[in-house]
Amino acid sequence: MSEKKSGKRPDGRAYNDMRPVKMQVGVLKHANGSAYVEFGKTHVYASVHGPKKVHPRHMEDGEKAILRCRYNMIPFSVNDRKRPGYDRRSVEIAKVISEALQPMVFLEEFPKSAIDIDLEITQADAGTRVAALTAASLALADAGIPMHDMVAAVAAGRANGEILLDLTKEEEDAKDAVDMPVAMAHRDNKVMLLQMDGDMSKEDLKQMLIVAKEGCSELAEMQKAALREKYKVE
Ligand code: ADP
Repeated sequence: MSEKKSGKRPDGRAYNDMRPVKMQVGVLKHANGSAYVEFGKTHVYASVHGPKKVHPRHMEDGEKAILRCRYNMIPFSVNDRKRPGYDRRSVEIAKVISEALQPMVFLEEFPKSAIDIDLEITQADAGTRVAALTAASLALADAGIPMHDMVAAVAAGRANGEILLDLTKEEEDAKDAVDMPVAMAHRDNKVMLLQMDGDMSKEDLKQMLIVAKEGCSELAEMQKAALREKYKVE
């Protein structure tokens, strides 16, 4: 971990500090696996149902399970009430989260089955897709779905000329803002998701990848601790 500068961000964080993170596994009684994750004021629930029979049947794959993901920001998750229901943004986010997780899951062990991941953003202050992806990975593990590895995700970016980890909405709204959500596998830091919004130099990109990697490593430790907490042997 690189040295932390004394914080000069609006909330007092150093450039490479995460917001306060909370993680809990097994929070939903009726799901096969579940997790709750907070990155500061961004709060998300993830549930996993399955492996189960596929409905509608024509969607099933005889060779492997299908991994279906749904992402939703509830109406009171943002300042102005958000119109309930799905939009292009939620469909895109569900797609990138699903594509980041698919290579991790042993789908071929469950032919003709579906694994459903539902992500509900109860409060949004930027970084919802990365918090949701982090929670989804935990919920899959909690459901006992066999995986090659787990995934942690965080956004790096730039605001007011500074490279930053885990931007808030206030920081994302800066004129020169760059937002770069990144997801990495625990063991080898393989990049499972990388998106970018804004203009940046090669040097900025390099720095952002460095802080994102540090953030993902911190989150990976917290994910393992959250799982250990639920499954500890008394
Ligand atoms: P992410 O949440 O992954 O950073 P975006 O960059 O699309 O994804 O969104 C950034 C932030 O903008 C969200 O976390 C949320 O705080 C805010 N936001 C997104 N959509 C809406 C909306 N429909 N109404 C109000 N705020 C929104």
